[in-house]
Amino acid sequence: MSLKPPRAAVIGAGFGGLALAIRLQAAGHQVSLFEARDKPGGRAYVYHDDGFTFDAGPTVITDPTAITELFDIAGRRMEDYVTLLPVRPFYRLCWQDGARLDYDNDQAALETRIARFNPADVEGYRRFLAFAETAFEQGYVRLGAVPFLHFRDMLAASPQLARLRGWSSVYATVARFIADEHLRQAFSFHTLLVGGDPFHSSSIYSLIHALERKWGVLFAKGGTGALVAALVRLFTELGGKLHLGAPVERIIVEAGRVTGLVSLGRHEAFDLVASNADVVHTYRDLLAGHEPSAANGRKLARKRFSNSLFVVHFGLRRTHPELAHHTVCFGPRYRGLIHDIFNGPDLPEDFSLYLHNPCVTDASLAPPGCASFYVLAPVPHLGHADPDWARTGPLYRDRILAYLEQHHIPGLRADMLTCRIFTPEDFRDQLGAHLGSAFSLEPILTQSAWFRPHNRDDRVGNLYIVGAGTHPGAGLPGVIGSAKATAGLMLHDFPPPNGRAGAHG
Ligand SMILES: Cc1cc2nc3c(=O)[nH]c(=O)nc-3n(C[C@H](O)[C@H](O)[C@H](O)COP(=O)(O)OP(=O)(O)OC[C@H]3O[C@@H](n4cnc5c(N)ncnc54)[C@H](O)[C@@H]3O)c2cc1C
Repeated sequence: MSLKPPRAAVIGAGFGGLALAIRLQAAGHQVSLFEARDKPGGRAYVYHDDGFTFDAGPTVITDPTAITELFDIAGRRMEDYVTLLPVRPFYRLCWQDGARLDYDNDQAALETRIARFNPADVEGYRRFLAFAETAFEQGYVRLGAVPFLHFRDMLAASPQLARLRGWSSVYATVARFIADEHLRQAFSFHTLLVGGDPFHSSSIYSLIHALERKWGVLFAKGGTGALVAALVRLFTELGGKLHLGAPVERIIVEAGRVTGLVSLGRHEAFDLVASNADVVHTYRDLLAGHEPSAANGRKLARKRFSNSLFVVHFGLRRTHPELAHHTVCFGPRYRGLIHDIFNGPDLPEDFSLYLHNPCVTDASLAPPGCASFYVLAPVPHLGHADPDWARTGPLYRDRILAYLEQHHIPGLRADMLTCRIFTPEDFRDQLGAHLGSAFSLEPILTQSAWFRPHNRDDRVGNLYIVGAGTHPGAGLPGVIGSAKATAGLMLHDFPPPNGRAGAHG
């Protein structure tokens, strides 16, 4: 065995790429992390506009243990790098008929609120929670961070899948236990956080509700960007090399093995390479020179992809402490709107919104007395509806802001100091996301576990995938779990000379 550490490259510094790079570097590989953009984080990019800090993407942190583990395996303490603050309520859910539900993990208070919608649903909710907890144990704790490389892995998981009726949807599962339509929406919308249609995502995804109930909903002090910065600091302190503004143009495959990559026109040799970039981009573009992989990319491009998002970041000259940190504003339609978002053919007239008001938890994200916000609307990806976003974006933004002003933030437009939008075309152009999807492959049963692109490529033995496009899928717990699964394979295939491969947890 060589005494030199294996040279590993990770393409993309999203949460999945960062978590993988940390695991490999901590275990004894020499890791180079290539990020196309000027800042790390991927979907968790950060904007600094006019004194306001805006997290571009993830804001709901649900499994702190997945993050702590990255510091533990490196012999560090997360508290020395970043602070995770509890958020209460977890969410405020608002409907157009004036109904409202705040929820967190205070069971008694939650049951009282559920009873106001429908007393019989209190018992139904208890049964749903028990179901979600079983799904969490089976789908997340047992299988969320192990690779599904062989069909037999899928067969081994099928008894649990059958017990959980994995073929039925999250909404159908909630509806088995709960009668009130508001509550059915309240306990099924979570799949949207990982790009899943509640009417078509497997019942297993009800685990997201149990995940929230277990550890609560958290927010990184300083914003999610502070968590990204903490992971970058950990990685570089361990000796890893981060290259920003360094898009990878090509992964070189010779005689069926990856030998290196090309970035900024420079060829660099590596023993093994993992891609955190979009899976279609990875196979179709980066591996264009290796026909079996390129063909796989073209095949992947025809799969079902998650919806996109339209995001408006805005800073106001006043704070709104009366608003919750996370508010979901359900529109006039639920099933119909979700159908249109996941199938097109047009941008729907109506919308449901998620409003992020982080300054109620951390005032440092805006100048004194001010507040930063973002609001997002799930929208079809570019394969399902392709309006001219350069023209449609500002109009759509104005409609969303008018809605918020009318229902939630009086005086919003008069108070606005700064504003920016991010459209499906930006997901495509700035993140290389196929069809501008916000969450990669849609998490339906036939695109999950073994049916998802594998954590280790089937053809090229030293090529690996990490992030939303591989098992288990999108969302921070998902992509951090994918890093654990992928690191396990890479360290098994290329044990570091100092024998710290077990350090991957
Ligand atoms: C608006 C929004 C809100 C969200 N909210 C939440 C939330 O609250 N909680 C939650 O858990 N999840 C949330 N999600 C989902 C979550 O953010 C994503 O699933 C997750 O961050 C994706 O991480 P990833 O590791 O797959 O990589 P990504 O974040 O997709 O990063 C991939 C990186 O690869 C880089 N790259 C691409 N091509 C190349 C190349 N050729 N060379 C070099 N680099 C390249 C990209 O620039 C990018 O930085 C949200 C997503 C969005 C978009």
